[in-house]
Amino acid sequence: MSNWEKNIRRVTPYTPGEQPNQPDMIKLNTNENPYPPAPGVARALRDTETDALRLYPDPAAKDLVHAIAEEYGLQDEQVFVGVGSDDVLAMSFLTFFNGGKPILFPDITYSFYDVWADLFRIPYERPELDAHFHIRKEDYFRENGGIIFPNPNAPTGVSLPLSDIEDIVAHNQDVIVIVDEAYVDFGTQSALPLIEKYENLLVVQTFSKSRSMAGMRIGYAMGCPKLIKYLNDVKYSFNSYTMNRTSIAAGVAAIRDQEYFLETCTKIIETREWTKKELKKLGFTFEDSKANFIFATHENCPAQKLFQALREHHIYVRYFPGGRTENHLRITIGTREEMETFLGFVKEYLKKENLWKF
Ligand SMILES: *Cc1c(COP(=O)(O)O)cnc(C)c1O
Repeated sequence: MSNWEKNIRRVTPYTPGEQPNQPDMIKLNTNENPYPPAPGVARALRDTETDALRLYPDPAAKDLVHAIAEEYGLQDEQVFVGVGSDDVLAMSFLTFFNGGKPILFPDITYSFYDVWADLFRIPYERPELDAHFHIRKEDYFRENGGIIFPNPNAPTGVSLPLSDIEDIVAHNQDVIVIVDEAYVDFGTQSALPLIEKYENLLVVQTFSKSRSMAGMRIGYAMGCPKLIKYLNDVKYSFNSYTMNRTSIAAGVAAIRDQEYFLETCTKIIETREWTKKELKKLGFTFEDSKANFIFATHENCPAQKLFQALREHHIYVRYFPGGRTENHLRITIGTREEMETFLGFVKEYLKKENLWKF
């Protein structure tokens, strides 16, 4: 090894889901929304003045912060925005998890958490989900340097009742608790009301899933003004202009169209509930998901084989090899038509391989 190499910050990066690009594909592997962004977003993009791009954007992204604050009945000082919630979460790790004690997150969860912890040299411990993939709140009632978990959890889709979240936050008032609500709009109660009561709670959400804007990269955090100020101090010590002019405008347009947002979330929830029934008929089992995906296993059909067969037919789902998730597939909820095609293929496959009695 050369001498210069000894001083490298070595990291094992996060592996995002595959982004294939075939005209006929059905893409159910990265929890994107099957519906387009709200109509106002297209207008905002058309109205973007190319000439203005020579100027730096507003470093505080005030218009977007204000639109989000208004939507949730908050003060602007309670909102922080970033380039997707990945950016917001990374900043939060850097800002809040400096106590030297291990931070806590579940053994099965969003696989970016351990990557950020390693990147920032933050020690961590991973309490095991129970046999049914549920968080046991008592596991978080011990000394720690901070806590983070998604609600509903990923990739399981299992959500934790608000009373359990409050218990975790109340038991940990000497550290910051982050609830990652990437999928909360698909039927889970948000912890947002608790930010008025607990200074140590940060709620993080994203435009990528329920607002159909994964390609635009907008995420946000909500908490007490002091937390938000500390986050901004770190952000301004890193990169003042995280939000570009186009995302600020498109984000404002998206958040203003509440009607379209509710309509598309409702469609996804309905398709999810229908897909659950159909999957059960085919012999799949899963914990009840409140997200825009289902984390399913089959008693006879190995997940990896089905994953491969689907992939050969340009139907993409997500497979996490190894450990307790080895025999599961995470299936994003697409349109009703996409789910019909997916289920049709699975049924034929199980028949052909003689893995299920019809
Ligand atoms: C998708 C996802 C995110 C990141 O979303 P962004 O696109 O960066 O906003 C964060 N947390 C969880 C649990 C997710 O599934």
